Amino acid sequence: MQTRILPIDENSLKLSEKIILNGGTVAFPTETVYGLGANAFDGLAVKNVFKIKGRPNDNPLIVHVHKDYDILNLVSYVPEYAKSLAKAFLPGPLTMVYKSKGVVSSAVSCGLDTIAVRIPSHDGAQKFLKYLNLPIAAPSANISKHVSPVTAEHVYSDLDGKVEVILDGGKCSGGIESTVLDCTGEIPVVLRSGLITRDMIA
Ligand code: AMP
Ligand code: MG
Repeated sequence: MQTRILPIDENSLKLSEKIILNGGTVAFPTETVYGLGANAFDGLAVKNVFKIKGRPNDNPLIVHVHKDYDILNLVSYVPEYAKSLAKAFLPGPLTMVYKSKGVVSSAVSCGLDTIAVRIPSHDGAQKFLKYLNLPIAAPSANISKHVSPVTAEHVYSDLDGKVEVILDGGKCSGGIESTVLDCTGEIPVVLRSGLITRDMIA
């Protein structure tokens, strides 16, 4: 497979859509790190993401959606505190875990009854997600245990020959992963610290 780095425009978005709808993967920029995206409804495509990365199949993936996507398509319940946090921090580097409706492939959450949802603020990510209008399961676009990529070239050095298209959105400003917040209980619980701090959430 030939790997191409492309600027984000109508042509590359159209090609990315074709790849994703055919069960392939596309790397795309976010404000934290580059992601390796697949259609969250497509179990084979999602499993392929694990395979490409050499990611253990008990480490669930985050689902990415555009800012106007109705997450009630994916999650069964959003508590009041989560609505306030979403208003304060989204789009942005905060991933929120909810009870899943179970409509995406079970491979995304490794069989858990929850789903991690993120709405990235990066303009290129928004363009990609909006164009597809699909939930995109995406871990960082690197081989497991390698450093998370913050440029298209960095993705290329890890995934050349393993991903068809890398959408080039320049250097990611964040460089570290999103904060993961469990929103399934009475109060939110930080599962992974990141750019949005516990103090900011409090
Ligand atoms: P990565 O894709 O490497 O940034 O990792 C995604 C992070 O989100 C990991 O720490 C996962 O454990 C966490 N995560 C994803 N889905 C869930 C979920 N359903 N419940 C709890 N944590 C999750
Ligand atoms: Mg990672």
